[in-house]
Amino acid sequence: MQTATQLKSKPGFVGAGDQLMYIDGQRVAAVSGKTIKVIDPATGEQIGTAPAGEKADVDRAVAVARRTFDTGVWRNMPGAARQAILWKASDLFAAETESLARLEALNAGQLLPVAQMMVMGAIEMLRYYAGWATKIHGQTAEVSSPMMGQFHAYTLREPIGVAAMIVPWNFPIVLAMSKLAAALAAGCSCIVKPSEETPLSALRMAEIFEQAGVPKGVINVVTGYGDTAGAALAAHPQVDKVAFTGSGEVGKLIVKAAAGNLKKVTLELGGKSPVIIFDDADLAKAIPSTAQGIFFHSGQVCMAGSRVYVQRGVFDQVMQGLAAAAESLKVGPNFDPSTQVGPLISDKQLKRVLGYIESGIAEGAQLITGGKRVGDRGFFIEPTILANPKPDAKIVKEEIFGPVLTAIPFDTLEEVAAAANDTTYGLACAVWTRDISKAHLMAKRLQNGFVWINCQFVSDVSLPGGGFKQSGWGRELGHEGLDAYLQSKSVFTAL
Ligand code: NAD
Repeated sequence: MQTATQLKSKPGFVGAGDQLMYIDGQRVAAVSGKTIKVIDPATGEQIGTAPAGEKADVDRAVAVARRTFDTGVWRNMPGAARQAILWKASDLFAAETESLARLEALNAGQLLPVAQMMVMGAIEMLRYYAGWATKIHGQTAEVSSPMMGQFHAYTLREPIGVAAMIVPWNFPIVLAMSKLAAALAAGCSCIVKPSEETPLSALRMAEIFEQAGVPKGVINVVTGYGDTAGAALAAHPQVDKVAFTGSGEVGKLIVKAAAGNLKKVTLELGGKSPVIIFDDADLAKAIPSTAQGIFFHSGQVCMAGSRVYVQRGVFDQVMQGLAAAAESLKVGPNFDPSTQVGPLISDKQLKRVLGYIESGIAEGAQLITGGKRVGDRGFFIEPTILANPKPDAKIVKEEIFGPVLTAIPFDTLEEVAAAANDTTYGLACAVWTRDISKAHLMAKRLQNGFVWINCQFVSDVSLPGGGFKQSGWGRELGHEGLDAYLQSKSVFTAL
């Protein structure tokens, strides 16, 4: 295993160590001088610090973003010029893939190949939205009311203004990019607030954008805690829009804070995604995919398939397969190439996940495999499967955000559709069957933003992603992801 020190000494590796925030193209300390410790989750050791920004720092960053938006230095740039800069940024990101991936892996605990895949995904997003910068246009319309007279009428599509982006720790680069790429293509000025757990990569991202030609002050990064820096951004009267990814609990606080100036809000929140395996499914595919769907990145994935419903005739067979898959996974430090399941993000998350496992067992679920912490250094948990919980058990209802699968048998399509939908969440679901009509009937019945038939974890930059019910408001990616940073103006000219 490579230590943080070895990583830092690798050629081209940037970003760990003591960091400053990024406001108006300058690296600056917090006004208060306070800092946050940055931890390597594989060891629990400190790898650097980041400023603990607060309201005063947010005020500074918002003033800069407001100025750049109002002077039009970015939004009035021709679309082709913005496209060229964003495309250039994508090339710079591509040239730095390895270094960015190492930084992300070090701070977020991702396996290195996962971090590399995420950087590549972020580059795809940037290239997709770079193309949109030249394709933003309104419509002309025939005014239909005869009483009104004759008019030439059209719509303009304009950037929404200053956009704040509040991001969690599980996939920091990709979740910041899904917002930044769309907002920049639209012409917005931005302030990113990464998670206090993972502040490093967003700082480097802002520098790369500026190197590509995004004017100073169009992208600002304020590091800090959620209840100070995050709350100040969500409440700021000069912020026009807040794009948030994180927990439902904080999502509700954001909505309340945003009410002050009625800023526009998009929310990408948690999930309790069902995976439904019918007895006619191709189990050779369904079992490994279901295991991957919950144990990937230690289950710290909003779309993790954390509830598996298995038709009774194949329940035991599927349980055996899932248990074997779970037990075969090597848990360990994320830079070890043989590791398949890395650490959780923090000691707090470790305790939270262990608490859910305990509560599941206490509420009557059967522990099929796993359930324990691995080692005493870093934050590792065994891939865990709990079966036959009571329908209203906490492990069935609440998002655990760890490598914990809850397995439940079912008999009929009606029963499983109702059980799968019996949740406040609605982010994603998977259906495994060889019967195409059953698959599409389920796709219609399930109340989720993503439906995967005989697959899992598929998304694409061209298609919108987001939640039904309390999994979110609005959509990211695709055309709808761009719309979230634009507003329409209707213009009428009397003829
Ligand atoms: P979190 O809600 O605790 O924090 C997310 C961000 O909000 C962090 O930057 C945090 O500092 C900030 N924050 C905290 N309190 C705040 C406040 N009062 N005001 C403003 N900002 C505040 O979430 P987390 O623990 O970082 O991430 C895990 C959660 O994120 C899970 O629920 C997961 O499902 C969700 N998530 C959703 C998606 C999605 O696309 N739907 C993707 C990834 C993660």
